[in-house]
This record gives sequence, C-alpha cells and structure tokens, in this order.
Amino acid sequence: KESQAEKFLQQHMDPDTSTVTSSYCNEMMKHRNRTVGFCKPVITFIHQPLPDVQVICFQGNVRCKNGQSNCHQSSSKMRITDCRLKKGSKYPKCDYKTQQLQKSIIVACECVQYETVHFDGSV
Ligand code: ATP
Repeated sequence: KESQAEKFLQQHMDPDTSTVTSSYCNEMMKHRNRTVGFCKPVITFIHQPLPDVQVICFQGNVRCKNGQSNCHQSSSKMRITDCRLKKGSKYPKCDYKTQQLQKSIIVACECVQYETVHFDGSV
C-alpha cells in the first residue's frame, strides 16, 4: 500500500506540465485515478520541481485547517492549478473547472523524513 507521502505526490505533484488547458483537470482526475467511486470535489496540482515542495516542510509553521500544528506555508508563490467540481456534475461524469493560479501553498508534513502528506490550501 502506498504511504501518505507517496499518495501526496501521486495526488498533487505535476512538475512537468507547462501548458495547462481547460480540459486539464478532467484529464488529470481520470489519469491519477481520483474519480473512482465518487467525484472528489476539489484538488490542487502543483507545477514546481519536487525539491521546491519538499523544502516547504522547513518553512513557516502555520496551523492546519483541522487544528493540528504540522502545517507549513511556502515562502514563495508556486504555480498551481485548482480543480473544482462543476455544480450539477454527477459521478461517473466528473466535470471540473480548471483554474491556474500563482499562490503560496500550505501543506502538512509528518514523520522521520519530514515529508509532505497533505495539501491544506493556498493563500
Ligand atoms: P489531501 O488531504 O492531500 O488533499 P486526501 O484528501 O486524499 O489528500 P486526506 O484524507 O486528507 O487525503 O489525508 C491526508 C493525510 O495526511 C492523512 O493521512 C492525514 O492523517 C495526514 N495528515 C497529517 N497531518 C495532517 C493535517 N494537519 N491535516 C490533515 N491531514 C493531515
């Protein structure tokens, strides 16, 4: 079974995409297998090299949405794409709105190697 850190990479990392088209989210949600069983309402993909994201665990500590204290905010803005399920979209036809953004991101980090395990938001 994949670890939480592996799941984070699988779910949120997309460093190599330079051109994001309007069908990006629909394609990504299918490819990354996140539309099995139900349509995930929101997900963010990060278009930055992996080391840029890993170091966030050593940047500004902030409180997570769930009240835990293991979240960190990136000191620089990152190229991200927000995928949001369109209203009225019903499984298995998961239809997403694709929005490219340049924002600071907040991730939760855990454990020995201090790895990213959860995407908490962008600000
Ligand atoms: P993501 O949260 O990255 O969008 P997801 O929604 O599929 O992915 P969750 O179910 O939220 O995944 O799981 C994220 C994992 O991160 C869980 O194993 C959770 O225990 C872990 N985690 C560690 N710290 C936090 C935190 N502060 N807030 C939320 N999840 C956290």
